[in-house]
Amino acid sequence: MLITRTAIRKILKTVGSQTAETGGILLGPVGKDVVTDFLFDNGKANGKKRMEYEPDVDYLNGRLAKIDCELKGVLHSHPKGYTDPSEDDFEYARKTFSLNPSLRSFWMPIVIGPPIETLIDEKNIFVWLVCPKGEYYSRKFLVIDEKFPDCGA
Ligand SMILES: [Zn+2]
Repeated sequence: MLITRTAIRKILKTVGSQTAETGGILLGPVGKDVVTDFLFDNGKANGKKRMEYEPDVDYLNGRLAKIDCELKGVLHSHPKGYTDPSEDDFEYARKTFSLNPSLRSFWMPIVIGPPIETLIDEKNIFVWLVCPKGEYYSRKFLVIDEKFPDCGA
């Protein structure tokens, strides 16, 4: 996963500075395999004490409709020791694929044990590529300094 330093900074300021189980979506230019922006969301209030980050799909879709970039993935945080996507995470992935039939795969990076100082460390971010049939693959990430047009997220 290629990600710009700008996106990393936004992730650190939001998900990285709070306790586990917050998240948001990764954005990038249409048709380009690079993450250039991050949109934090407060998660969906479900009435009970929230144990797992659950994206606020209505809020995120509303914002997505107003910006030039496309969805590249969903990033969220877990407590230390939980590096893999959970059953709920896969459930969300299934929903995302059924709502977006043209989507072939998306990134589901998991930030481990925030609050943290830096994401430039393979011990505190695990990058997964999830596919429509539930397959998921471990991938490396690479931070790049290249400038891209602002998504306006
Ligand atoms: Zn999770």
